Amino acid sequence: MSETIGSPTTTTTTSAEIILRIKDLHTYFYTDIGISKALNGVTFDIPSRKVLGIVGESGCGKSVTALSCMRLLPRSAKIPKGEITFFRHKKNGNGSAAPVEEVDLLKLDTMSQEIRNIRGAELAMIFQEPMSSLNPSYTIGDQIGEAIILHQNVDKAEAENRTIKILDQVGMSNPKAMVKRFPHELSGGMRQRAMIAMGLSCNPSVLFADEPTTALDVTTEAQILDLMRDLQAQLGMTIVFITHNLGVVAQMCDSVAVMYLGRIVEQASIEPIFYNPKHPYTKALLNSIPHAGSREHKRLLPIRGVVPDPYSSIKGCPFHPRCNSFMPGKCDVNVPATVTVDNGHTVRCFLYSDEVEQQ
Ligand code: SF4
Repeated sequence: MSETIGSPTTTTTTSAEIILRIKDLHTYFYTDIGISKALNGVTFDIPSRKVLGIVGESGCGKSVTALSCMRLLPRSAKIPKGEITFFRHKKNGNGSAAPVEEVDLLKLDTMSQEIRNIRGAELAMIFQEPMSSLNPSYTIGDQIGEAIILHQNVDKAEAENRTIKILDQVGMSNPKAMVKRFPHELSGGMRQRAMIAMGLSCNPSVLFADEPTTALDVTTEAQILDLMRDLQAQLGMTIVFITHNLGVVAQMCDSVAVMYLGRIVEQASIEPIFYNPKHPYTKALLNSIPHAGSREHKRLLPIRGVVPDPYSSIKGCPFHPRCNSFMPGKCDVNVPATVTVDNGHTVRCFLYSDEVEQQ
């Protein structure tokens, strides 16, 4: 018999405190070998002016969630179901105003002028590998300046001045010379700073940062993380930090959403996730990493098995083939619903509630 302590999830957060609301989002990829169900009902709120981490193993749907919000999915992808509401806030320096408009992002045509105006200016994204995201045939100045000209209605000279200012802000040495450089002339750390500058060039309300430090050495990674935290505090923007690195999450984020196979399985602020995790997957992730400063010589425990093939369909809780708390006849029959176990702490697991997700 499971310990039933959860209650059906109710959202008490007001729209003044959130910037994006994602509800029952399904994103599928239609390929020659079948349908890959990358997102299977993702529901969560992204708080305004905070840093939210999205964690999970590769293939859990972290990047697809961000790309769905940006409306940057490839042609093979479709969103058959779901809602993404953008609460557009009035920008007033620290961004503290109440939302002035609700925009249903999924109703916008991906090629429409409206989504182009939002993308880059209000929702921006920085990618994992700057070398493949920057255009090798244009200078850094041209690439950052292009977004500024497009969204801020200024001439080329003014765009260059603003580019130099942003490069200076992201800690690029000699920014005046940097605007004339091509991507291949920069080091990995400098290219990543250029990507961050591009993401920040129009002072977006939300910045999706998709594993932005994975390709960097530890020293440069620490510098870039400090820089992003400082800029977030200065500019009052929201950062959605996508990573598989729980150490980075502890350092950077105010709250965390844990993803497994296209669903959010647990969400809470940093402390409960690290000191009182509920979901067996979150516990397994935490047991698989070393803890700095710990005197105990505990063996690291890898998570059993691998993330299943997204083309296959699993009956019941998607984590059940790998779960140490698996309950036969229950976990392999229905999908658990998301329930609230504590203030702002939600989890999707039959250990906390018998409630079943309505399909
Ligand atoms: Fe494990 Fe069952 Fe909870 Fe799924 S619902 S995480 S299989 S205990």
